[in-house]
Amino acid sequence: MFTSIAQAALTAKGGQAYALGGSGCDEKICAEGFPMPDVAVPYYVDAALDSAIGLGCVSREDALSLINDAPLAALLHAAAAVRDRFKGRSVSYSRKVFIPLTHLCRDYCGYCTFRADPQAGVQPYMTPDEVLAVAEAGSRAGCKEALFSLGDQPERVFPEAKTFLKSLGFDRTLEYLAAICELVLEKTGLLPHSNPGVMGLEDLRRLRETNVSVGLMLESASPQLGRPGGAHWKAPDKVPSLRLRTIENAGQLSMAFTTGILIGIGETPEERVDALLTIRAAHEKHGHVQEVIIQPFRAKPDIRMAQAPEPSKEDLQRTIAVARLILGGQMNIQSPPNLLSEDYPDLLKAGINDWGGISPVTKDFINPEAAWPQISSLSARTASAGFVLRERLAIYPEFSTRPEFINDHLQPHVQKLLGEDGYARNGDQC
Ligand code: SF4
Repeated sequence: MFTSIAQAALTAKGGQAYALGGSGCDEKICAEGFPMPDVAVPYYVDAALDSAIGLGCVSREDALSLINDAPLAALLHAAAAVRDRFKGRSVSYSRKVFIPLTHLCRDYCGYCTFRADPQAGVQPYMTPDEVLAVAEAGSRAGCKEALFSLGDQPERVFPEAKTFLKSLGFDRTLEYLAAICELVLEKTGLLPHSNPGVMGLEDLRRLRETNVSVGLMLESASPQLGRPGGAHWKAPDKVPSLRLRTIENAGQLSMAFTTGILIGIGETPEERVDALLTIRAAHEKHGHVQEVIIQPFRAKPDIRMAQAPEPSKEDLQRTIAVARLILGGQMNIQSPPNLLSEDYPDLLKAGINDWGGISPVTKDFINPEAAWPQISSLSARTASAGFVLRERLAIYPEFSTRPEFINDHLQPHVQKLLGEDGYARNGDQC
């Protein structure tokens, strides 16, 4: 029953035997340390695993079988084998500073602690000097990425935002962001990566001058989350079609793009699959998605969804593994280590090959309660799991050597930090 899958896994692992469980396997060896499942796998799940690991092609029907019915151990083995075949045993991260240019946001997502309304005595945006101080501290600490994460279009609803922007000669947050990116690039050499919410074609064109890549989580392809009481109620920028348009716009402009899904916010397994298929379709069209993040919802006391259940580690692993099989071995798949606390190396078993941005200088402002691991500890735990930690830039190796993705203005800045193999020059190689 498992012969074809086991053979594919065998090939992927360079000749070491990997039994995927079930009565067809005489030799039960599990390099990842899983107890081998002794369960029957329905034929349609076996066929879906076989097709994913062998042909690298997963239909919607197959993906639904995998997410709903595949035994976890078999699913993880298949995903890890596909990852290993294309990515080997390297796992990357980006050394960054996190710059929350503004916490003001016109949306009210049910899981968010980042956003804020204007408050008396609180400045609505970071000033250029404040931004530079953080970026310079990052530069001194060896960071190479300036991550700009901020609320979405606050000037459309808050006069305080408009007034601040006007005082500096801007009409829109995205114009201010573009100018700040230019400042940071020129003064510190950190490579900007912006994550400012929904962006139009002209916004992206402007950011392309200074950003090596940009990001927008699709989060979900399900409009039902926008219904009253849903995670995206009162969040006009979370309409999936709008976010997909931003992803498509970036593709038209050949901008390396980071996106992903947020799981556990009220979506069904089918909707997770549909979101991943939507991302795959956009990438097939434009070839610009450099990374897909699978991020779990985390309950916090101050949010509307404080009582909502968090996805379990197994649920997160299952979704990552399905993402790996849907998106294929070449895609970079990330899940943040700080959202799984001490167990984070278990995410490697599900097929990720990236830990995302880690800052030795700033906290994770989106999840301030969840500290990033020290880079030395991340490196040691990655090594203990059998992988090598590599530092990458904010643009992945697959894109950093392709001139169509990096404009002439950015080229010298990128070349200064880029090693011969597309990872960071003088980056940690542990
Ligand atoms: S998640 Fe983003 S868009 Fe939603 S409220 Fe928070 S900052 Fe705004």
